[in-house]
Amino acid sequence: MRFIEPHAHMVSRTTDDYAALVTAGCAAVCEPAFWAGFDRGSAAGFHDYFHQLTDFEPQRAAKFGLPHFCWLCLNPKEAEDLRLAKDVLALIPQFLDRPTVLGIGEIGLNKNSRNELAILERHIELAARHDQLILVHTPHLEDKLKGTRLTIDALRNQPRIRPERVIIDHVEEHTVKLVLDAGFWAGMTLYPTSKCTPARAVDILDVCGTERLWMNSACDWGESVPLNIPRTALEMRRRGWSAAAIDRVIYQNPVQFLSQCPKFRLPPD
Ligand SMILES: [Zn+2]
Repeated sequence: MRFIEPHAHMVSRTTDDYAALVTAGCAAVCEPAFWAGFDRGSAAGFHDYFHQLTDFEPQRAAKFGLPHFCWLCLNPKEAEDLRLAKDVLALIPQFLDRPTVLGIGEIGLNKNSRNELAILERHIELAARHDQLILVHTPHLEDKLKGTRLTIDALRNQPRIRPERVIIDHVEEHTVKLVLDAGFWAGMTLYPTSKCTPARAVDILDVCGTERLWMNSACDWGESVPLNIPRTALEMRRRGWSAAAIDRVIYQNPVQFLSQCPKFRLPPD
């Protein structure tokens, strides 16, 4: 089995997790910038975090032979402080040329507030200006449908954004069609309880097919399972999916989307 882990917060994980991912067939890991579990006090905190994502973490992954890529942004949970957000947005361009940066993410909404939306729009504009791919986080539970609609509107309002260069993550049964019908890619996050469980993700694949869909574990500092992609592949196999179709979802699809960034390169087999 081979797979890409397109959304994992490895700065929060142990070397055992790296070893387990590689042993299970992981061919590359991609790490969006996100919330640390607490609000950072200054833009300098983000500067150090972006260094960690673009410098230290790829070296840590390389010790396991695993290519590590990242996405940069200010996450929506910290977007309420507009002054901080402005300072962090100003920092991002100096990191965009680094060799493992794939684009802007995970941007989006958390509580669908006015300030979050303003900062989401600034990130979209930044991505358009620098011709970057976009990875979007969608809100939790009752805020998800409204937040997904607001995000799609914000993306459509920026005419330079092409939907095939945007992945909208954490889709569930009630948002996946909205995202795919608008021409975007959709990501299913495999959490032990919330978001999509492996069984629910395979239900969605049964209904929607495999076009423009990927899966990720989004493992971080909370309760999450770094091996949930291969575990979901086992669930697909149990339910009669062919090896070729499984490979398409867990390997070829992420490679297809991510290869739109010329920096996404895998070592030859
Ligand atoms: Zn995340």
